[in-house]
Amino acid sequence: MSNKVLNDFLTNNLEDLSEKGLLNTIDVIEGANGPEITINGKKLINFASNNYLGFATHPELIEAEVEAAHKYGVGAGAVRTINGTLDIHRSLEKKIAEFKGTEAAIAFQSGFNCNMGAISAVMKKGDAILSDELNHASIIDGCRLSGAKVIRVKHQDMEDLEAKAKEVTESGEYNKVMYITDGVFSMDGDVAKIEEIVKIAEKYNLITYVDDAHGSGVMGGGAGTVKHFHMQDHIDFQMGTLSKAIGVVGGYVAGSEQLITWLKSQARPFLFSTSLTPGAAAAALKSIELMQENPNYVDKLWENANYFKEKLQEIGYDIGVSETPITPVIVGDESLAQKFSQELIAHGVYAKPIVYPTVPLGTGRVRNMPNAGHTKEMIDQAIEVYEKVGKNLGII
Ligand code: PMP
Repeated sequence: MSNKVLNDFLTNNLEDLSEKGLLNTIDVIEGANGPEITINGKKLINFASNNYLGFATHPELIEAEVEAAHKYGVGAGAVRTINGTLDIHRSLEKKIAEFKGTEAAIAFQSGFNCNMGAISAVMKKGDAILSDELNHASIIDGCRLSGAKVIRVKHQDMEDLEAKAKEVTESGEYNKVMYITDGVFSMDGDVAKIEEIVKIAEKYNLITYVDDAHGSGVMGGGAGTVKHFHMQDHIDFQMGTLSKAIGVVGGYVAGSEQLITWLKSQARPFLFSTSLTPGAAAAALKSIELMQENPNYVDKLWENANYFKEKLQEIGYDIGVSETPITPVIVGDESLAQKFSQELIAHGVYAKPIVYPTVPLGTGRVRNMPNAGHTKEMIDQAIEVYEKVGKNLGII
């Protein structure tokens, strides 16, 4: 029997979450998380994963992971600064730096703790961080942890950014000022205005940090949003994940030699948490090699995404301002978004609702991630379902 105070806390709060419809129910996928998945014995076309290039189940990545497990074992053993680093981690970091066009890179165990560790290793009390209001939760938490003053900037509003950058730098109150933004925003699929950001950052001497979790493997031929705008020499932190298009797990920062040396001695998840498994490092390395050798993966992703988006618009859906494969189908009302997703799933399309507080009230949606592994038949089938369900629910 556990502690009574804890029991009361959990009982009350779980009831509260449940009443508000905020208690997570997590579907169990039977088998691989590929372009099609099986849940409760039923095959569904999967539009809910970030597996943009279909690499999570790619045979060459699987082979690289298995080979590495045989060579190095399944675990890295300890923290890299204590136990020594495996050469496979060094090779991965070199490859990331080469791919991103930077001097060096550091790998973390996840994108989330990369943001927590990297932001707080550089930004401190007495500094200020200007942060786009729709930035990912791991950025928000990393900023909080840093102890710096956090100032929210209106989403993608360059006038607001410039006004705040001017005010903060002219106040003379802060030692350093950073601007931090997602490269591709995960709920709407819009792309950060990197060129304008760089202009403002250079004018006001801001440190720049781009979280390209959804841009890596997607934008710039796979090398990301910063590469897309040819701004590799102007962005201080190119952060990304190994868990989405790369298909595995992990996070990284690519930047100058000096920055990476600093992070390797100051970022707490690097110092106090066991590194990526050797298998994950080897698979991620293979993933980047595949992208470099063969542009077809990224091209296929865009071909599928463009086709899917065009068809959705043709049948009358609002897909917002997306400029990337992230495809929100916006219906507005929160309960309608929930119902919409349930009906899509019942008809064989796995696409999940995203509602307040993840997105603003009244902009409830079902979010789709078409990927390079989807066949044209799968997409056509999904569009048929979208048409039928949308008409039944009076959305289109
Ligand atoms: N940043 C952004 C913008 C993300 O979307 C995510 C993943 N949801 C993360 C960071 C965290 O990455 P990971 O899943 O690798 O921890």
